[in-house]
Amino acid sequence: MMQLLAMVFSWAMTGRLDPSERPPPPAVTPLEASAVRRWAGPLGLMLATPPLALLAWMITVHFDGSVTDFARSITWERFVALVPGPSVPAVRVLLGWVLFQGLLLKFLPGESFKGPVTPAGNQPEYKLNGVAAWLVTHLALLVGVRLGVLSPRTLWEHFGSLLVTLNLVALALCVFLYWKGLRYPSTTDAVRTDHRLFDFFQGVELHPTLFGMNVKQLVHCRLSMMGWSALVLLFSAYQAELHGGLSRAMTATASLITLYLFKFFVWEAGYFTSLDIMHDRFGYYLCWGLFTWVPAVYALPALSLVERREDLHPVLAFLIVVGGVVSIWVNYAADAQRQRVRATQGNTTVWGQRPEVLPARYTTADGVERENLLLVSGFWGLARHFHYVPELTLAYLWTAPAGFSRALPWFYAVYLTILLVDRARRDDQRCAKKYGPAWEAYCQRVPWKILPGVW
Ligand code: NDP
Repeated sequence: MMQLLAMVFSWAMTGRLDPSERPPPPAVTPLEASAVRRWAGPLGLMLATPPLALLAWMITVHFDGSVTDFARSITWERFVALVPGPSVPAVRVLLGWVLFQGLLLKFLPGESFKGPVTPAGNQPEYKLNGVAAWLVTHLALLVGVRLGVLSPRTLWEHFGSLLVTLNLVALALCVFLYWKGLRYPSTTDAVRTDHRLFDFFQGVELHPTLFGMNVKQLVHCRLSMMGWSALVLLFSAYQAELHGGLSRAMTATASLITLYLFKFFVWEAGYFTSLDIMHDRFGYYLCWGLFTWVPAVYALPALSLVERREDLHPVLAFLIVVGGVVSIWVNYAADAQRQRVRATQGNTTVWGQRPEVLPARYTTADGVERENLLLVSGFWGLARHFHYVPELTLAYLWTAPAGFSRALPWFYAVYLTILLVDRARRDDQRCAKKYGPAWEAYCQRVPWKILPGVW
């Protein structure tokens, strides 16, 4: 009996039935980083982000997105009265969502996809059924709303409470994953440093699994990005219920976010070669961010439009949508270019010509020397992260319908600008370390980080 329990436990934690085959706990390695990166930055972010996420919701819903109104009229008593608590309906919604998305991920048909080789020489596996899951989810939501089983009004009224609940659940999950990473890592990619706070923030495991499921794919793609899409749909449905129809402003914002997220699932395999998945370990930064920051901050432009009566001129709405669709296409095309070139070993065309590539050698922790291709033409010849330009243009465009009279709807776009500028810098450092002279040669050919001619 004890043996059976040990096997089930081992499988649930690491995906291996035989406990003796489990990867060993990670050894402690010294962390060479400044005090800001070691503890001040992580601590500051962990203290600031949960209240910020809640404030964003409070100012949007109770102060019409006006930070000035909030600052002028808030008192401690009013603030305390407005802070929602966790609630049973919120827990029910959350559990239902996790179960529903978990079942779709597990049982909808889809090919399996092997991600890029990790620094320890492992290759994580994913299931490609994102488009089917997106379609089933949105159909189920629409039918549920139509039949009155799902109430967009209830979601609106309990959204603050849902955010608080998500906060607590995400924190508990971060603690659990930290412990699991130290004791029962799923792969040999787990990293433990001599700084606990840093490890908790940054994560220990690169690709944790639970009950045989890839936790990163489940949380990142299916709970978080799918959740963002579902929220925008339900906020739109609530506006239609409230005002008897959708405003042009909401139509423009919601259609762009929805198209962007649909594209995300069409391109899901490509996403497994992005920085979040390939390089960032699954700690507070990713896990809490995906559970709480994404619904609280990424959905703000749509949330701020729900109760608004002022609308956009039809021509302006049309131009915003056209600009947004072009941005989505450029961002997709840039991501697809680099993946296609690598997948075909350069035997493809980029902008109608044979791609220019630089072979870049690197060594994984298991001592094996490998090679990747760095694309030097197409979008990747304009700047080293040119694809962030359309990503940012899109964020500003889908916020524009909220107008310029309130600051808060712009929070996501401004935050994304800071995030992507920092990300371009971090990625450059990581690639320079990984590829050495080949990356230097790429930087000489393509000197701009994001915006050609500027930076
Ligand atoms: P990237 O698409 O920028 O991928 C970076 C990696 O690509 C590098 O680490 C390197 O990985 C490889 N690479 C770099 N240069 C080249 C080259 N010239 N040729 C081939 N491969 C190269 O990752 P991101 O995760 O930043 O972006 C993925 C997508 O997600 C983008 O569309 C981005 O706009 C979007 N995004 C959206 C965010 C949001 O919150 N809305 C946040 C962040 C990103 P390797 O080690 O394999 O060489």
